[in-house]
Amino acid sequence: MHYLCRVNFDAYARTAVDLVNAPLDDLSQLRAVLPGPDWMCEDATERDLQAFRKAQRRLREVFEHGAHGREREAVEELNSLLEAHPVHPRISGHESGNWHIHVTSRGSAVSAEYLAGAVWGLSVWLCEYGSARFGVCADDRCGNVYLDTSSNNCRRFCSERCATRSHVAAHRARKKAAVSELASHSKAQLKPTVPAQPTLTPVG
Ligand SMILES: [Zn+2]
Ligand SMILES: [Zn+2]
Repeated sequence: MHYLCRVNFDAYARTAVDLVNAPLDDLSQLRAVLPGPDWMCEDATERDLQAFRKAQRRLREVFEHGAHGREREAVEELNSLLEAHPVHPRISGHESGNWHIHVTSRGSAVSAEYLAGAVWGLSVWLCEYGSARFGVCADDRCGNVYLDTSSNNCRRFCSERCATRSHVAAHRARKKAAVSELASHSKAQLKPTVPAQPTLTPVG
């Protein structure tokens, strides 16, 4: 990851989002998340995969806290993640002499490099915009996290796709409810009404 050349915290914070939303069943899925072509993809190991999975769970917690108004908990979790994944800047050129900055020291694991950047970026993001802008998709079947950059902090879905799908589902549910209500009404009308028995008053 070479974003640090221009200290692009946004890009770092987005790597945290990418990680939380990624399936991590095996190394090939992990490689799909890693920025490349780079040394990262080639060097990632099973051990990295374990570290990524653990961090993924903890980063999701940060988003859950933020999305539910628990700012202090979000900060605590991030502070503990910052300790676990420290930033240690270093100029590197690999063999080409194409200088750029890595966020961890020489020989660090792929997971250490990626996670230090992701946690740092997300922490800066929280200080800048507040944890209320950490979001979890309102579509239950999705659960993806996102950074809310809308002007009035009103985003509810991770993507247009989820927003559309959810609106269509809500529309269908309303329509179905209306139809079944109509059906129960007409059933009630079809029920034979027992005519009131004329009361015979004995004339006496
Ligand atoms: Zn590099
Ligand atoms: Zn979604």
